[in-house]
Amino acid sequence: MTKTYGFDTLQVHAGAEPDPATGARQVPIYQTTAYVFRDADHAAALFNLQEVGYIYSRLTNPTVGALQNRIAALEGGAGAVCCSSGHAAQIMALFPLMAPGRNIVASTRLYGGTVQQFSNTIRKFGWSATFVDFDDLDAVAAAIDDNTRAIFCESIANPGGYITDLDAVAKIADAAGLPLIVDNTSATPYLCRPIEHGATLVVHSTTKYLTGNGTVTGGAVVDSGTFDWSASGKFPSLSDPEPAYHGLKFHEALGPMAFTFYGIAIGLRDLGMTMNPQGAHYTLMGIETLSLRMDRHVANAQKVAAWLEADPRVEAVTYAGLPSSPYHERVARICPKGAGALFTVALKGGYDACVKLVNGLELFSHVANLGDTRSLIIHSASTTHRQLSPEARAKAGAADNVVRLSIGIENADDLIADLDQALAKATA
Ligand SMILES: *Cc1c(COP(=O)(O)O)cnc(C)c1O
Repeated sequence: MTKTYGFDTLQVHAGAEPDPATGARQVPIYQTTAYVFRDADHAAALFNLQEVGYIYSRLTNPTVGALQNRIAALEGGAGAVCCSSGHAAQIMALFPLMAPGRNIVASTRLYGGTVQQFSNTIRKFGWSATFVDFDDLDAVAAAIDDNTRAIFCESIANPGGYITDLDAVAKIADAAGLPLIVDNTSATPYLCRPIEHGATLVVHSTTKYLTGNGTVTGGAVVDSGTFDWSASGKFPSLSDPEPAYHGLKFHEALGPMAFTFYGIAIGLRDLGMTMNPQGAHYTLMGIETLSLRMDRHVANAQKVAAWLEADPRVEAVTYAGLPSSPYHERVARICPKGAGALFTVALKGGYDACVKLVNGLELFSHVANLGDTRSLIIHSASTTHRQLSPEARAKAGAADNVVRLSIGIENADDLIADLDQALAKATA
């Protein structure tokens, strides 16, 4: 599909056409494990990657394929690989680049689960991460060494309120000949298009806004198709002969689709973190209304954040959409359609007031999730971060008096009224 269509058109049509077998207008859920080969030559061509087609659903499936093409179109990328979760997508993004002894330079402002994955789990593969404050550009550049293979950050960072200066970080990655990987989960391609700011790869937890209503977990890795994987000799998986495919050199043979094909032909084949066709169906449904939902999420977040900031029971609100935010200037440049719908609120009443607020709310659900149509709240200090010391919690942006809000698409006045009555109980 041509890229001249607007975002609202692409989110409905990209990657999908009426089913060639039946004419079905909606993308069918191809609930099948395997695909019949036309004949032995056809099978051989597919296994040699000489022809693109379907072999086995651990690698490719038409429903998942439609979603991959739609997400690639929305991000302005050359191709995408869908996976079973956002965390799977992160491993799938790093896998072609890394080897034992290699490292990544990552922002300190990341989703908590990602900090965990990068601090501990990836060490079992012999990989490591160096965490740096991405507002300190000299520190980012200084953290890069000969074994660094990628720079990793989030566009609008969880738990909200922080926006990465993607253009500045991309410049550092370019100068070092390294790919910049941007987790665009909290922003979505509607609010932020990291490839236009110099990102090489974009990763998503499609569990969140892309699906939009809290039904399925999923992830995606989008490749811009613009990185020269053969230039430095640092990315042999993509530049050197691959024994499993008769010495095929992915970058030389497949050009801008090299990373995506490697992700499917080696990554999904051997790691098996595959998205299932039911999951892809729910996410395709969700994406059809992405721009409509995100406009409402942002408008509601703006209204709720402004109300909270003016309330005397509140100490501080971190929303970058507020003029008081130190990151407000970056909104117009990095995410011009809005600063997302995720932010934290610090209460004057401390830990106890947060617990009472969470208990007193009626519309907001107390859950460890974000990016749902429903408004969500979590008090990290008494849940996800409860095993940490108060000092460590404060450092992680989860101080005892802080709650994180994920603002949904309900009526904003109803959300404010709910917060008002629960704050009254919390501070009584
Ligand atoms: C949720 C989330 C992830 C992890 O995604 P899962 O689908 O839960 O595996 C990664 N990054 C961000 C920013 C997230 O919000």
